[in-house]
Amino acid sequence: MITLNRRLLLGGGAAALAAPSLMTRAAFAQAADKTMDIDHAMPPETHRFKLGGFQVVVIKDGARASDKPQETFGTNQPPETVAELLQANFLPADQFVNSFAPVLVDTGSEVILFDTGLGEAGRVNGMGRLVEGLTAAGYKREDVSIVVITHMHGDHIGGLMEGGKPAFPNARYVAGQAEYDFWVDPARAGTPAEGGQKGVLANVKPLAEKTTFIADGGDVVSGITAVAAFGHSPGHMIYRLESEGRQLVLAADTANHFVLSLQRPDWEVKFDMDKAAAAATRKRVFDMIATDKLAFLGYHMPFPAVGYVEKVETGYRYVPKSYQFDL
Ligand SMILES: [Zn+2]
Repeated sequence: MITLNRRLLLGGGAAALAAPSLMTRAAFAQAADKTMDIDHAMPPETHRFKLGGFQVVVIKDGARASDKPQETFGTNQPPETVAELLQANFLPADQFVNSFAPVLVDTGSEVILFDTGLGEAGRVNGMGRLVEGLTAAGYKREDVSIVVITHMHGDHIGGLMEGGKPAFPNARYVAGQAEYDFWVDPARAGTPAEGGQKGVLANVKPLAEKTTFIADGGDVVSGITAVAAFGHSPGHMIYRLESEGRQLVLAADTANHFVLSLQRPDWEVKFDMDKAAAAATRKRVFDMIATDKLAFLGYHMPFPAVGYVEKVETGYRYVPKSYQFDL
């Protein structure tokens, strides 16, 4: 893995040096990213547990390493401060890994998929492995009866369509009304949201007629309720799951790094579209999760992406799940 990363890193760097004017910002960012764990002989990692009467399957759609964590997390902090916090948590200061964890919830009567990973666009980089993971876990794409979209960034909607057709042919869809309204608004043209809008027009809009658009407090099915958690994106929604007294919060992108975003919830994050609102939401949601001692699943937490938080002086300490749901 080290050899591979080094090769890709050098390759990206050399290309950037050779033709800086020919590379768009996006292409440069992509060259700087290093795909992790490319071994197509192995199915992607999956993790299954029971939540009361629900079966929950977490799938690793992919993971990628990037340089300069300080340019993504704590962007309003001195870079040394971010580096120190990483090192104090036994993490490298010069690189970080972002992983992607769509979740399937089988209630017994519905097979509900929350978010769809990077899809075919991610596959060139060894990601977009959701369907492969579902298959390994015993589900076909035809089995999915509802697809819920937490928000409409590319790493969540990328797998909705495949080859111009719905990737989950028997599914209906649930998404936040505010989120959809923002992205399809013609006013996005010529703004930083224009690229994201293209993704929504290509992957979400074709499915709009089969989509139920919901707001805060809306139910997907009995026991699965939406909670508005705006900030990361204008209509970002999280979901509370409850079955037979067991609870889990699907916190989506409320926090995007298990150390930097949780221990310092106020630090600004490049991916948060409204940074102040995202920080306020982070504190509101994780105060609730800590106070009620709830388990949560964060889309970008280290796989299998499920854990707890304890409130500490500056924020929250992440405690990964172990056998709590096996008993
Ligand atoms: Zn995301």
